[in-house]
Amino acid sequence: MRFEDQQKKMVERHIKMRGITSEKILNAFLKIPRHRFVPDQIKHLSYNDCPLGIGEGQTISQPYIVALMMDLIDIQPEDKVLEIGTGSGYQTALLAELAKEVYTVERIETLLTRAEKLLNEMGYNNIHYKIGDGTIGWAGGYPACSKFDKIIVSAAAPEIPESLIGQLATSGKCIIPTGSRFYQELLIVTKNEEGYVTSYHGGCTFVPLIGEEGWEK
Ligand code: SAM
Repeated sequence: MRFEDQQKKMVERHIKMRGITSEKILNAFLKIPRHRFVPDQIKHLSYNDCPLGIGEGQTISQPYIVALMMDLIDIQPEDKVLEIGTGSGYQTALLAELAKEVYTVERIETLLTRAEKLLNEMGYNNIHYKIGDGTIGWAGGYPACSKFDKIIVSAAAPEIPESLIGQLATSGKCIIPTGSRFYQELLIVTKNEEGYVTSYHGGCTFVPLIGEEGWEK
């Protein structure tokens, strides 16, 4: 089957039929060719609903979980979104379709360089890139930005880094897998005038968020 047909089937079966009904999200998944973000030797697996190795011991996330996380925090066209864990850049492209601006941080330089090159080739001009420790958020990134409407973390932490809460705008939402090294739950932190409220949204398994306010290694 052609990649295009496999992509349509993946969106229908693994995203829409599992309860993601937002047209904006479904259209973004139909637009972004996941196979361009997957290494050559496993491109044939690109439209399976599972994480895949992208080198450096890291993975491109499972499509359904990416869709779920974006749906849960309700990305809006005017949002400034901070993404922690660029990885292949696939989710970055999806976010760039849905939001006004995306600020993405990756700790592994080779991954960030590869993702940035591909996303530039694809014509995105609303993405800003930073190499470094995303547990401290966008601190020191260019252009400077101190508050984000949404923060999406694609690696697992023992708990939400305080720095990320500090960089959420009032009414902003951060979604992050939190728990042990091997099993986590999706935590949403919503900022309000008084502080913040938290809610949990089911189990998942992500690679570790390594850094000052995450796992040590
Ligand atoms: N969503 C990405 C995609 O679509 O390809 C996959 C992200 S992958 C599951 C998690 C990424 O988080 C890895 O590339 C890893 O290097 C990165 N990471 C882990 N700790 C980090 C940190 N402290 N700061 C920034 N990136 C980090």
